[in-house]
Amino acid sequence: DRLITPHSRLDEERQDRAIRPKKLADYIGQEELRTQMEIFIKAATARQEALDHVLIFGPPGLGKTTLANIIAAEMSVNIRQTSGPVLEKAGDLAALLTNLEAHDVLFIDEIHRLSPAVEEILYPAMEDYQLDIMIGEGPAARSIKLDLPPFTLVGATTRAGLLTSPLRDRFGIVQRLEFYTIDELAKIITRSAALLNIAIEPNGALEIAKRARGTPRIANRLLRRVRDFAEVKGSGIVSEQISVQALDMLKVDHNGFDALDRKLLLTMIENFGGGPVGLDTLSAAISEERGTIEDVLEPYLLQQGFIMRTPRGRIVTQNAYLHFGLKPPNRLG
Ligand code: ADP
Repeated sequence: DRLITPHSRLDEERQDRAIRPKKLADYIGQEELRTQMEIFIKAATARQEALDHVLIFGPPGLGKTTLANIIAAEMSVNIRQTSGPVLEKAGDLAALLTNLEAHDVLFIDEIHRLSPAVEEILYPAMEDYQLDIMIGEGPAARSIKLDLPPFTLVGATTRAGLLTSPLRDRFGIVQRLEFYTIDELAKIITRSAALLNIAIEPNGALEIAKRARGTPRIANRLLRRVRDFAEVKGSGIVSEQISVQALDMLKVDHNGFDALDRKLLLTMIENFGGGPVGLDTLSAAISEERGTIEDVLEPYLLQQGFIMRTPRGRIVTQNAYLHFGLKPPNRLG
């Protein structure tokens, strides 16, 4: 089982319920987004209106679902959750929409994966709170229009570029989640440890934060694994030393890279002379799906300056060579 999988597993979801922040004030980091959302929410509440539709984009595990839930909690409304691939037919979405109460939040994860037929239904619903749907087939088919209560659509996606522009244009609020700093991750880890009754030292939290790939989900996941290690191999306290030992054992290196990150970088260096190499070639070479490379692996490696995108493909930077103790080629010197 990879540590750095994008999606949470079922057991993890259960444990996450205890540590998932429920209020904007507990949402750590993302300062700008938080300040803005606080204003938008206050203003909509004061006007007794539904909040404008919100699009949240960012790599997996950065807090999109958490933010959607916080928005509903701060607006004191219900949240209904679904995802793009789950909504197969126009009727599936219609059923959800007609069950909403005024000002409710409808959260659609992976909104870029909606089928065109379902997306069509969404446009008038978002714009005029109108449901426009065909019922029946053949000569008996007719179109009906229904008024919907004012509601807030919160859509989440890994990359804004994946959305069709008519859909993107219908969101009044667009928020992009950034990778978290080490200090922010250390705060998240300390908070989670307190909620899970894990004894942790500040330097223990810091060590886990450094290797968490800028991602709260990974930070919480590593914390749980280090806790296991601390209980079995130590006194139960998550210290710096225990964290280092546990994370080394898990083969999460000092940059937070796991086996797959290293495989990607090393393949680019050893098989393709550092690049440029195209996404499909790379995908075949490391036997990983394009989507995993683009959504899970690349964003962090790009942000940390280990790879770059060029019109001719991906290239590794000098940092990548240095990470493996290799001498960068002269062109990078
Ligand atoms: P996404 O929907 O983007 O994949 P999630 O919202 O499920 O990510 O976040 C993953 C986990 O990380 C959550 O369960 C939550 O505990 C934690 N988390 C995310 N963002 C924050 C944050 N800003 N502050 C504290 N914890 C966070």
